[in-house]
Amino acid sequence: MKTCKEVHRLVIEGQDRTLPLSHRIAVRLHLMMCSACRRFEAQMNLLRQALRRFPGD
Ligand SMILES: [Zn+2]
Repeated sequence: MKTCKEVHRLVIEGQDRTLPLSHRIAVRLHLMMCSACRRFEAQMNLLRQALRRFPGD
């Protein structure tokens, strides 16, 4: 079982590149059980969408 810290790192990494399947499954499983990390992922998704509106980065 991954710690919240590891899951946060994988959520961030997964936004820039495709993670290995085993990591994606581990993150999914953790998110099912951990509301704190679900919120973190939602915030990261919002942030990413906001950043996408600024081309040239
Ligand atoms: Zn967590």
